[in-house]
Amino acid sequence: MDTPVDTALSVPHTRPEANDRPTRIRVGLDALAHNLRAIQAHVGVPVMGIVKANAYGHGLVPVARHLEAQGVEQLGVAFVEEGIALRRAGITVPILVLGGIHAPQVTQFLAHDLEVTVSSIAKLRQVEAAAEATGRKAVVHLKVDTGMERIGVHSENAASFIEAAVASRRCIVKGIYSHLACADDPASPMTREQLDRFLAACAHFDRLGAPMPIRHLANSGGVLHFPETWLDMVRPGIALYGVLPDPASRATVDLRPALSLVSQVVYFKIVRAGRTVSYGATWTAPHDTRVVTVPIGYGDGFPRALSSRGEVLVRGVRRPIVGRICMDQFMVDVGADGTAYNEDEVVLIGDQGGSAIRCEAVAQAAGTIPYEILTGLNERIPREYTGGAASDGPRDT
Ligand SMILES: *Cc1c(COP(=O)(O)O)cnc(C)c1O
Repeated sequence: MDTPVDTALSVPHTRPEANDRPTRIRVGLDALAHNLRAIQAHVGVPVMGIVKANAYGHGLVPVARHLEAQGVEQLGVAFVEEGIALRRAGITVPILVLGGIHAPQVTQFLAHDLEVTVSSIAKLRQVEAAAEATGRKAVVHLKVDTGMERIGVHSENAASFIEAAVASRRCIVKGIYSHLACADDPASPMTREQLDRFLAACAHFDRLGAPMPIRHLANSGGVLHFPETWLDMVRPGIALYGVLPDPASRATVDLRPALSLVSQVVYFKIVRAGRTVSYGATWTAPHDTRVVTVPIGYGDGFPRALSSRGEVLVRGVRRPIVGRICMDQFMVDVGADGTAYNEDEVVLIGDQGGSAIRCEAVAQAAGTIPYEILTGLNERIPREYTGGAASDGPRDT
């Protein structure tokens, strides 16, 4: 079963030499556990913790392991390879693969005990064929499209789809779900329309006299803003990591950011008035300016869009990034008389000396959403886990 796709998930930051890098992501496992408990208490139904895309950059396996230890009811990933990586790491909670299935991969779901998203009758037939061929049963969740137009049978056509699934001898229909397009914004009327369409589709189970499977609809936005979407299970991703999905979102749950991104000063200089900094000479020192260099760049996933727009914390003070962000380094203006020394900690996301830079603010400065900031932080940055099961000392994975 060792398929080449798995190598993409055996992350290279396990190499010990990479761990000496002064740049690192710190993940607070206690914050994750707190967010899980806060969400569970808020919604009062089981939680499917979404850990796709390397657990939103926090590290797939360590995050999944901690959520499992903290009693998460189910996990969700985007791709079958992510699910396989979790099974190989010994994770035993139910795992749903949210993405559309790719026919050659269907047998892998069955071999690794992964729940399948079935998004059409044709896909149902593919899953049945694979189950038949391997003599197993497939656990499936039916995907209904209520307005996202991504994958899933349109809710108005769900009757025959549900009928086919209920009649299947090889598929166990464990769940039915849909995905919300606008739940990040508490004022959007679309969520209620999607809920109505979803419930109308679910009603076909009653009409068939079939048991109602687990109905799940709410992403983080649904969890935060729309109690009527909680139904039988919720699927929060970004909220679990303590980050709000959108500037319009309301913090109705007490969430703590789990991730910080830190580096260190590697160089200090005085840039004379009139000299320029970095590629393209886009920033000119207005007067003699103290400038430090930080060893992280867009090659790590720190967005180049933050060139002369982002800020970092040095010695507890907010300081501007000046000039273009390079692949591996960028420069920071620490002022006409600011002090900074080699090896001083630089906080790109997180707290320092009573100040904080939130992922949400970084995303806004970069003209994007927090999801893209978090998932963009790549495997070149070592991850360090604190708290939780790692309380015997930080460990790299
Ligand atoms: C990514 C995803 C989620 C989680 O979304 P958040 O906005 O991060 O909470 C839930 N459900 C599906 C189907 C997804 O693809």
